[in-house]
Amino acid sequence: MTDASDPPVPGDLPEPDLPEPEPDLPEPGAPPPEPPPEVPVAPALVPVPSLVDPRTLYPRPPWPEQAQPAPGATAAMDPRPDHGETSYVGAGRLQGRRALVTGGDSGIGRAVAIAFWREGAAVTIAYLPAEEADAQEVAALAAEEGAELHLIPGDLLERETAEGLPGRAAALMGGLDLLVCNASMQMTTDTIDDVSFRQFDEVLRVNVLSTFLSCRAALPLLPPGGSIIVTASIQAFAPAAGLPDYAASKAAQVAFVESLSKQAIRGGVRVNAVAPGPIWTPLQPSCGKPMDMLTGHGADTTIGRAGQPAECAGAYVFLASREASYITGLTLGVTGGAPVH
Ligand code: NAD
Ligand code: MG
Repeated sequence: MTDASDPPVPGDLPEPDLPEPEPDLPEPGAPPPEPPPEVPVAPALVPVPSLVDPRTLYPRPPWPEQAQPAPGATAAMDPRPDHGETSYVGAGRLQGRRALVTGGDSGIGRAVAIAFWREGAAVTIAYLPAEEADAQEVAALAAEEGAELHLIPGDLLERETAEGLPGRAAALMGGLDLLVCNASMQMTTDTIDDVSFRQFDEVLRVNVLSTFLSCRAALPLLPPGGSIIVTASIQAFAPAAGLPDYAASKAAQVAFVESLSKQAIRGGVRVNAVAPGPIWTPLQPSCGKPMDMLTGHGADTTIGRAGQPAECAGAYVFLASREASYITGLTLGVTGGAPVH
């Protein structure tokens, strides 16, 4: 007897017990089957957000006419430089490191400081007392992001400042793993007769002697794996007519880095340089260069524009990081195209 009040629901029916279908075997002796046709790769129709066109990523010359007294202030620049405030994304590559960046209040040094702390480092910046306003801007950003940042104002023309900085920074941060000698003076002159004895002396003292003194004081503090990075310049390799003293100082830095790298490795410390090309920083409107040179800053590069401090920071992070463990004595160019050799 069947129960007419409870008919089977279609979904509940048992699967019929069918035999497995035979696989499609080729006839014996038949030629092998054709491979499937290659599917052409479709062109990217949607732009990839991280891809940027280096020609148009930042403003191109001409820059607005402007001038300010040395050492120059960020707030007075038009347009304001980009230090990576809204763009640099850290990935923990310098986690726990303790870094001293001279000239860290502005320009390339500020961009390096921001990148370093976003990579997980504690940072101390050194700068001239006259640049307190710039240093406070950096401090405000660090505080907003909960980063460890210390400030040491001082004049690198003074021997005690240059020699004392590494020890003072180490005391503030509980040690020192990275030294970035980035502070420099630059004054443009028309002829060699315009380079006063005092100017030559000061440019060489700040750019070369203070680098030497800070490196010598830092070496005993830097543990194996630590590193030193010096900001040199394209001027070491392709000197401009108006910068004989500055270009000489930058060439000296490159030779110093190569020499020191051979000694410092005895303690496991790597020493490298970054050689920027024309970068948009307070150094430019405050170095007394003719207005047409300032407004055209960077126009003659391969990329056709000046670089921004933010575009230099990655080179420093790389050289400081574990990824650069086999790199020492190198000068890495961030020049917009010009070779550094
Ligand atoms: P910047 O003016 O922002 O930085 C230079 C810093 O040097 C100043 O902030 C100041 O703190 C420091 N400094 C100068 N004299 C000092 C002194 N007597 N005592 C203590 N600190 C002093 O300009 P920037 O362009 O970012 O410069 C950073 C480095 O980049 C420099 O070594 C410079 O030679 C190098 N560089 C710059 C360019 C460029 O086009 N801007 C190109 C190649 C190399
Ligand atoms: Mg400055």
